[in-house]
Amino acid sequence: MTTPIASAAASAQSHAMQQSPSLTTSRTVHVIGAGPAGLMAAERLAQAGATVVVHDRMPSVARKLLMAGRGGLNLTHSEPLDRFMTRYGPAQPTAAAWIDRFTPADLTDWVEALGQETFVGSSGRVFPKAMKASPLVRAWLARLEAQGVQIHTRSRWSGWRDGALVFETPDGERLERPDAVVLALGGASWPRLGSDGAWAPWLEAQGASVSPFRPANVGFDVAWSALFRDRFAGQPLKGVAVTHGDRTARGEAMIARYGIEGGAIYALSAALRTTVETEERAEIQIDLKPDVAVGQLTDRLSKPRGKASLSTICARWSGWSRPPSPCCMRPVPCPPRLGPWPSGSRPCR
Ligand SMILES: Cc1cc2nc3c(=O)[nH]c(=O)nc-3n(C[C@H](O)[C@H](O)[C@H](O)COP(=O)(O)OP(=O)(O)OC[C@H]3O[C@@H](n4cnc5c(N)ncnc54)[C@H](O)[C@@H]3O)c2cc1C
Repeated sequence: MTTPIASAAASAQSHAMQQSPSLTTSRTVHVIGAGPAGLMAAERLAQAGATVVVHDRMPSVARKLLMAGRGGLNLTHSEPLDRFMTRYGPAQPTAAAWIDRFTPADLTDWVEALGQETFVGSSGRVFPKAMKASPLVRAWLARLEAQGVQIHTRSRWSGWRDGALVFETPDGERLERPDAVVLALGGASWPRLGSDGAWAPWLEAQGASVSPFRPANVGFDVAWSALFRDRFAGQPLKGVAVTHGDRTARGEAMIARYGIEGGAIYALSAALRTTVETEERAEIQIDLKPDVAVGQLTDRLSKPRGKASLSTICARWSGWSRPPSPCCMRPVPCPPRLGPWPSGSRPCR
């Protein structure tokens, strides 16, 4: 999967570094959005000598980052940088400029410097030993406070008036005219955690071109038969290789009642989404035994199997709870529908 925290943080880090030479101690910068991108921008700006004020509309900061840590916070990936970069697809040239300045290894060092030990999982992904995000966020907030960064929660930016930024706060409206502003408002997924995407039309009204929000890191609907769904919903597919077009992703997938989800699917989700948008459907191929050569597989299947059916043998190999039928999955057609999931209804990333 692409690693949004690494991306957001690297982007913020890199932009702040580019700006820092022109900052003087007298400059005030307001950062709007206290997710990982905004907090990283605040840290870099404070290090560069700016007076930094962070605003977030929620009662507490970094809610999505904290939610991300619930299932095990995947910080980044340990693979070589050139392979890591391919995860950015068409955004690679742009992303390369800032990831060069703050690499996945830099991110890991940064996390360790906050007192959070990390480890590389069997998939090559990097996690904090604590798995969750809360100790990291606590240590980060303490460091920001020590750097003099002020954080205003329940401070919702609602656009501009007469050249001033307008904030809605429990004490009423506040107008601010900082020397510079950093917008780190997140996207439009999981709005209950703060990032509701409401800002897009405000920026468009100012003449900025805003790319439409599109789903990323999502599961896909699949028209399973009722029999397949009843038998296999909840079945993890471990160590599989999923292929779409010329891209293959290794990892886990999960059969869901609605379709399919999991790391290997999320890694392909941008390409799958584009195919569904243009062709109204997409096909994937799932190799349940990517490390076993076809010849080896044929040999094993040709051996006498006593009373066990072919499906039972396949299930044993694959670690499935029940025999799949047919034994090897064929390309799975996705139905025409693909769009942003109703808010929060697909716990994918
Ligand atoms: C369930 C789940 C699991 C995830 N797991 C991982 C993972 O393991 N690894 C990983 O790298 N990523 C993961 N992610 C993704 C990761 O959390 C996001 O990519 C990351 O939080 C994005 O950071 P951000 O700072 O750009 O935006 P956000 O974290 O969304 O922060 C934006 C902030 O802006 C504030 N804001 C928005 N509008 C306004 C406004 N008008 N005024 C004031 N404040 C405003 C919001 O309240 C919010 O706090 C996961 C996400 C989810 C939902």
